[in-house]
Amino acid sequence: MDHQKIKELISSYYDGELDEKRKRLVEKHLEQCPECKKEFEEMGKFEEVMRKMELKKPPKEAWQLYWTSIYNRLERRAGWILFSIGAIILIFFGGYKMVEGIIQDPSTPLLLKVGILTVLGGVVVLLVSLIREQFYVRKRERYKEVEK
Ligand SMILES: [Zn+2]
Repeated sequence: MDHQKIKELISSYYDGELDEKRKRLVEKHLEQCPECKKEFEEMGKFEEVMRKMELKKPPKEAWQLYWTSIYNRLERRAGWILFSIGAIILIFFGGYKMVEGIIQDPSTPLLLKVGILTVLGGVVVLLVSLIREQFYVRKRERYKEVEK
């Protein structure tokens, strides 16, 4: 089978218009012929771009999904922020209350007090950094939206 004929069949191949026999014919030729194979691959890229362009036109449902997902993300983030703030309060005050006795007990070794306070401080710093990260991500997203 000659090249020209194969090249004509290639576009039908992508459109799914070929029967099994002709499909196999094209595939067999492509295995042996680098020139047609290149053409075949170029066509594949073109088809892919076309498909992506079609996907880029978002139907109504896609938009709805988009907004729902944004809402869910914001909701989750707000949840995280509230959770973090609450956790800081709980850990800082609750934790302090719990160790207050140990701290205020003069018989407790100084090193133990320092250790407990250091752990508490570390947890608070971690939570603060988590909150900051949440705010930072949100700011960056807003910036990205402005860019568009
Ligand atoms: Zn060929």
